[in-house]
Amino acid sequence: MDKYLRAIRKNICSICVDSTETGKCTLNEHENCALELYLPKIVEIVHSTQSEEMEDYVRSLRSEVCLDCRAQEEDGSCYLREDINCALDRYFPLIVETIQTVDKESQ
Ligand code: SF4
Repeated sequence: MDKYLRAIRKNICSICVDSTETGKCTLNEHENCALELYLPKIVEIVHSTQSEEMEDYVRSLRSEVCLDCRAQEEDGSCYLREDINCALDRYFPLIVETIQTVDKESQ
């Protein structure tokens, strides 16, 4: 998981609105980053989806991660997603691309 974490810190944390100019995360101990929390599951989704369509990855994200996330309501809505306040959802296409690039480079 370390290689994915390193690439995510470089490609996503560095541009995340929740980070400082030097890429340091500003979330406090009471706030969880869904990207960090669910990273193994996200890698699994990318490996098992195998599609050209981002929608297919988003569908897996909703059914395998959002469903377990305490921010999501029973009706499938999520106040963090609606406020563009979930880093995982906000940067999801870039996260998928980053994981796929790490995989290609490790072949
Ligand atoms: S979009 Fe909402 S439900 Fe899905 S991971 Fe982010 S905070 Fe959780």
